[in-house]
Amino acid sequence: MTIGVLALQGAFIEHIQMLEKLGVKTQEIRKTEDFSAQLDGLILPGGESTTIGKLLHDTSLFLPIKECIDAGMPVFGTCAGMILVAKEIADDSTSHFQAMDIQVKRNAYGRQLGSFGCNATFADEHVIEMPFIRAPYISSHGKAVKILSVVDGNIVAAQENNMLVTAFHPELTDDTTVHEHFISIINKNS
Ligand code: GLN
Repeated sequence: MTIGVLALQGAFIEHIQMLEKLGVKTQEIRKTEDFSAQLDGLILPGGESTTIGKLLHDTSLFLPIKECIDAGMPVFGTCAGMILVAKEIADDSTSHFQAMDIQVKRNAYGRQLGSFGCNATFADEHVIEMPFIRAPYISSHGKAVKILSVVDGNIVAAQENNMLVTAFHPELTDDTTVHEHFISIINKNS
């Protein structure tokens, strides 16, 4: 199994380290030659969604990645990555891959509460640590979307078919639960 990790900007190294810990091969994606439909899955990391969106177009990676996501390639978006896969961004005419039937609110916790951590349940499994950094949350979603975590009444993790998103950064913790969940999506897909 090889998982691609978009490495244009943001917290991609931590995802690579997490996957290596789980014995999974990774491929850093910086240019079109790094990306292939043969990859078993793709991680879109946290960072700045506007910047990553622009870089995706500058590098011509946007279309090949969109085609693969639309064709069912398993994808895991954290924070800015969740914004990238969303169909819609609240109060914003911009959107990126428009793949997952969610509307997200950017910087949803305001400036004061920009960064915080908490412990909450993920996917009925167990309580995990959730670091939030200028995070979005899911403000509305379609029927096919399965809610995996709720914090203070806000949806912060969800899945639709092969698409997994978290508003928080599991790669910044020692807990491999969410990455293992993504690997199980890939295993079911193959
Ligand atoms: N605030 C960022 C954005 O809107 C996301 C922050 C993050 O990925 N940690 O793109």
